[in-house]
Amino acid sequence: MNSTTTPDTLHRRGLMFILSSPSGAGKTTIARKLLAAEPGLAMSVSATTRPMRPGEVDGHDYHFIAADIFAQMVADGEFYEWAHVFGNSYGTPRGHIRAALKAGGDVLFDIDWQGTQQLHQQAAADVVRVFILPPSLTELRRRLEGRGTDAADVIDARMARAQAEISHWDGYDYVVVNDDVESCFAKVRQILAAERLRRTRQTGLIEFVRTLTQV
Ligand code: ADP
Ligand code: 5GP
Repeated sequence: MNSTTTPDTLHRRGLMFILSSPSGAGKTTIARKLLAAEPGLAMSVSATTRPMRPGEVDGHDYHFIAADIFAQMVADGEFYEWAHVFGNSYGTPRGHIRAALKAGGDVLFDIDWQGTQQLHQQAAADVVRVFILPPSLTELRRRLEGRGTDAADVIDARMARAQAEISHWDGYDYVVVNDDVESCFAKVRQILAAERLRRTRQTGLIEFVRTLTQV
């Protein structure tokens, strides 16, 4: 370590920050705000077989791929985890995630409880799991309708599934109710800040503390 290194610039290992919620509770909204506010955080872009929604960008929101390509990627072991959700397949490509973590970058995941379980099984020490709850089921439906991206039958399916998703709340490290966006965002940001300071992630600490304890 050189003399200009401070505790703020110590090397640390990145973390896998997972945001899950029943569809419509606001995880995309919170994820976008986090990415805008936290330069050290990059989104893990999932692959999916579902059709693109208006406003979505291929390679940014998802890699939109055909079902046969998805199946081939599964067969080739190219996913950390994958799952069927609402009749479509979703998966997390291994891509550059490992390298990003090693270099101290944090990676944000917008995945469901199944993917969360799988990622946690593979990389428990790197994973931080945050579950976002809606303030009520009425408000959840209002948000799904207000988003204007899904047909009525898809909204019904998402609502029917919401309670099943909510039942997995206890598989998460943190649970935040998204009533007011700004206050939910502030809480999620505090979680990220605290998790970055975990001793085990601050891989530069040993060397730094040695400089403090040398006589
Ligand atoms: P998800 O990614 O969980 O499916 P979105 O982030 O797309 O959910 O949010 C669903 C809709 O609810 C969007 O139209 C979004 O603008 C709105 N929304 C998100 N959070 C709040 C909130 N706290 N209060 C009111 N509306 C919200
Ligand atoms: P949507 O179609 O609304 O974008 O996403 C539907 C669901 O799929 C959400 O619950 C989202 O968290 C989940 N999802 C998105 N990407 C992945 C992924 O890579 N893996 C898993 N397991 N779930 C995902």
